[in-house]
Amino acid sequence: MTKKAGWALGIGLLVVALVLAVVMSPRAEFIMGGALVNLGYRFQDRLSKFDFEHDESITPDQIWTELERQNELASGMRGLFPRTVRHPVVAILACMDARIDTSELVGDTRRYYYIVRTAGSVLSPAEQEMLELAVLNGVKIVLLTTHTDCAAEAAAADPEARERFPAVISLLDERERRIEEFMARPTIRDAVAAGELQVKHARIDTTTDRLVVEEVHPGAH
Ligand SMILES: [Zn+2]
Repeated sequence: MTKKAGWALGIGLLVVALVLAVVMSPRAEFIMGGALVNLGYRFQDRLSKFDFEHDESITPDQIWTELERQNELASGMRGLFPRTVRHPVVAILACMDARIDTSELVGDTRRYYYIVRTAGSVLSPAEQEMLELAVLNGVKIVLLTTHTDCAAEAAAADPEARERFPAVISLLDERERRIEEFMARPTIRDAVAAGELQVKHARIDTTTDRLVVEEVHPGAH
């Protein structure tokens, strides 16, 4: 083997080793994936260019124009990349808080997840029915979440806000009871009893994105 070939082989092996290190290490792979996803969003999302932290002078018209432009581009792609058939196996109930990004919590939630979002993660009869429908469609895990620093929870503790938002506050007051109601629905009760469905509870740490799994609500089973 010539000296040149030796170098080439050495560099080649180094590259292979680096690629393997990334592929074999879940953490390195995850970070690389996240970097690519965020790079993609940077390319696609022009609304993020507006600096909401320091400049809120953007008008509703400007936002709407950008939203329409974005959708025109997005919907123009659907013909090129037809939607594949998906079969969600997880349903997540989460607060509508914009800081909570379900894809940042558990990976790509476009494929195998139903996401139900309400202010304060409340489960009104309508959401109960939606989740039941999800279970009938093959969902095996229902994850009911709340999160830290929740504006709806803060509103529930504020007498003035309670008067202003009576509907959502009364649902919040009944959150536990509504969960019990959901668990008592025959479809849900039977699926849980048969081991075909698990209902999990977690509180999302809004700062770290960590799901802190909580014990199942007493009386729910
Ligand atoms: Zn919230």
